Amino acid sequence: MAYTLPTLPYATNALEPTIDTMTMEIHHGRHHKAYVDNVNKALEGQPALAGKPIETLLREISQVPEAIRQAVINNGGGHANHSMFWEVMAGGVGGDPSGPLADDIKATFTDFATFKAQIKDAGVKRFGSGWAWLVLADGKLKILSSANQDSPYMNGQAPIMGVDVWEHAYYLKYQNKRPDYLDAWWSVVNWKAVADRYAKAKAGNL
Ligand code: MN
Repeated sequence: MAYTLPTLPYATNALEPTIDTMTMEIHHGRHHKAYVDNVNKALEGQPALAGKPIETLLREISQVPEAIRQAVINNGGGHANHSMFWEVMAGGVGGDPSGPLADDIKATFTDFATFKAQIKDAGVKRFGSGWAWLVLADGKLKILSSANQDSPYMNGQAPIMGVDVWEHAYYLKYQNKRPDYLDAWWSVVNWKAVADRYAKAKAGNL
């Protein structure tokens, strides 16, 4: 079955003023749609692969034939990464998390300010296009970045939250100021959704 573009869980203007409406329209309606269309195209004639959930396809990337593997990494990764991205944001949120996620962030990264600084650092230092991530790796929280649309799933890691640092994610409003975008981004992080992903990841269901 072909993958489909998920509907945004909020209106395209819901993340204003942090992420402007036009960026959301283009990012979801054109960029994410292109990843979906192109992974479907890459998997034409491969019903066994196309029937897998996108996360499974990426976890088992070594089983994808070499001729289409890079197309699946780029576009299947793009589909999974953006589906996560829309999910972990919302309007009228922000602040700091609470509960087990907050406790484990503090236990791992000292405090919440250090955690945020490390995510920002990962995003700022990613040269070119990519993502900064909080992942669950071998049962532990870890911050890292990936190039292009490379997915943590390909390395056996579960993406708890990630921030898109491709220029298309911020250029209309922030131009070359990626650090400013990364500072502002926290005000649209939906900690409830992130905590849900963390609980699922710990249960082995993400
Ligand atoms: Mn993007």
